[in-house]
Parts: sequence; structure tokens; C-alpha cells
Amino acid sequence: MPPTAKPFIRRRHDHSQLVRRAFQAAFLLLNLWIGVQFYVFVRYYETGGATVAVTRPPGVEGWLPIAGLMNLKFLLATGHVPDIHPAGLFLLVAFVSISFVFRKAFCSWLCPIGTISEWLWQGGRAIFGRNFDLRRSVDIPLRGLKYLLLGFFAWAIVHMSAEALREFMHSPYGLVADVKMLNFFRDLGTAGASVMVGLVVLSMFAKNAWCRFLCPYGALLGLISLASPARIRRNPDACIDCAKCTKACPSRLPVDRLLSVKSAECTGCLECVAVCPARGALDLSVTRKRPIPVAVMAVGIALLFLGLVSIAKLTGHWHTALPDRLYLDLIPKARSFGHPGM
Ligand code: SF4
Ligand code: SF4
Repeated sequence: MPPTAKPFIRRRHDHSQLVRRAFQAAFLLLNLWIGVQFYVFVRYYETGGATVAVTRPPGVEGWLPIAGLMNLKFLLATGHVPDIHPAGLFLLVAFVSISFVFRKAFCSWLCPIGTISEWLWQGGRAIFGRNFDLRRSVDIPLRGLKYLLLGFFAWAIVHMSAEALREFMHSPYGLVADVKMLNFFRDLGTAGASVMVGLVVLSMFAKNAWCRFLCPYGALLGLISLASPARIRRNPDACIDCAKCTKACPSRLPVDRLLSVKSAECTGCLECVAVCPARGALDLSVTRKRPIPVAVMAVGIALLFLGLVSIAKLTGHWHTALPDRLYLDLIPKARSFGHPGM
């Protein structure tokens, strides 16, 4: 007797990728604006006040994940929000919260590096007709590199006492860690630029190469997401085994062979859901019976981000309040400050 065919109901048109790309574009523009404003802010002090003066955008501290982790350890150890780079702490908590509730969604919905990585592999696919899939025996060990990097930073921070953290944050290096980060990109040099070009080229061939293999921030958020109650869940009764989900997954997860995706590599991008043709076969959900609509995910991400930023502003923990004379003294000399631990 031939096997009974599964009932197939076509999924309604999916808008998840439109919504996600709108979030990516908005966050990239926000970061570009922050970057330009911060550059203008730094130039004012570098030129001794000869250029236009603007306020320092606290959002730049989202680019200081190590300072954010240090501040989190300081908060946990002392119960006090640190006064240097507090916005970095609140942004870290916002991104961790988003990743806990909606898998590692910071990476695929908000992170500007994630957005550029996605554009690069899509550009590579448009130019060369395909992306290059590393063999699993190479791909899986490479994914472990980011956890090694995270372990290195976590080990260094966990071993610092609250007093050592306070000293670091108030050292000249700690006070202008944001300017040091800007200088890192301005002073790349041949070796640094070559590494950047190498990463860009690699990212055109291998999907999200930086995010999947090297980003320690993504590694941290992935570990947090393991505790998330939300998962991509496949219903084998509705699934027609077309494997489109697996082919679409940028994290190269075997979605069509799993009942639920528990991996720390899942970024909640919903690409698998968007291509699935069978209604009820694949969803992001807390339980199989309760799919999370993309609108709820979008509102949830926005509320967590804006909510944490608002709490920081309302409680007076958003701005790093350093006097002008300190910036006038420190910013022009920032290149000469070595790490206090070196
Ligand atoms: S399993 Fe789905 S949501 Fe998770 S990374 Fe892959 S495509 Fe994105
Ligand atoms: S895309 Fe994946 S979950 Fe959806 S029907 Fe095909 S194999 Fe099943």
C-alpha cells in the first residue's frame, strides 16, 4: 500500500525578512550617525577646539563590549552602576535580554557587523552564483574559535577585583577607551588593513564568517540564548521534508532533521521559517502550539532595546560625565596610552 500523503496547506506570505531587514537598516543608520557624531566630537578636542563642538553620543559605548562586561562585573560585585561608560553596561544588558528572549536575535536583527556580513555573502552569491560551504569537519571546529576568544576575555575580567575594575576604568586608557577604539580603525596600517580585506573576501564566500567563527560577543549571546524558552520548532506532521529550511539557514544548521533548534548558533533570523512552504511546519515558538508572530518579535526587540536605554536615561546612568578640560587633555594623547595591565 502506498504511504498516505501528508496534508499540505501552503503557508501564507511571510513578512519576517522584510521586517528584519528594516530593523537591520535602521540600526545600521543609527550606528553610522553615532559614528559620525563621535568622530566630530573627538576632532574638536584633537584640534584644541578649532572644529565644531558636538555632544558625545553615549551609544558609542555599544562598541565597547569589554568595557560593558567589566561594568557588569563591577555592578554584580558592588551593587553600584559604574560612572564611566555606563551606557555600555545598559546596552550589553539590552542585547543579552534580546538574545535570551528571542535566541541570538541581536546578531541577525541589530548588529551592524552582522548586517554587513549578510550583505557580503549575498553579494558574493550574486557575483559568483553560490557561496562556499566549508566541510562540516572544518566548519564546526572553526565555530569554536569565538568561544576561545570569549574565554580569554571572560577569564581576564572574572579575575579582576572590583577595585581593579574601578582603577582600570578611571585610568587614562579606560577613560578614553572609546577614542582608542576609534584610533584602532583610523590607524589600521598595512597589516590591519590586510586582515580587514581578508575578512571581507572570506565573508563573500563563507556565510557570516566573522559572526560564526570569530566574534566573541556573538559567542556570549549564543551561550545566553541556550537558556531561551523560544526555539525554532519543526512539526513533523506538517513538514513535507523539502529541506528548504536547511538550505536557507545561514548558520548551516540541519533544521529539517531536528524537532527543535537548540543550537547556540541559531540567530533567530527566521530565514528558515520564511522559505518553509508548509503552514504549521516550522515556527519560532515557546511551545509547539504557540508560534511567536514576527510582529511580536519585532515589538519585543524594540521594547527591550528602547526600554533599557530609557531606564538608563531616567536613572541618570546614560552619559559618561567627564569635564571638558579632561577631554582636552586626554584625547590628543590617547594614542600614547598603553593598557594599564601591560
Ligand atoms: S535555524 Fe532558522 S532562525 Fe536559526 S539561524 Fe538557521 S535560519 Fe536562522
Ligand atoms: S522547509 Fe523544512 S520544515 Fe518546512 S516543510 Fe521543508 S523540510 Fe519541513
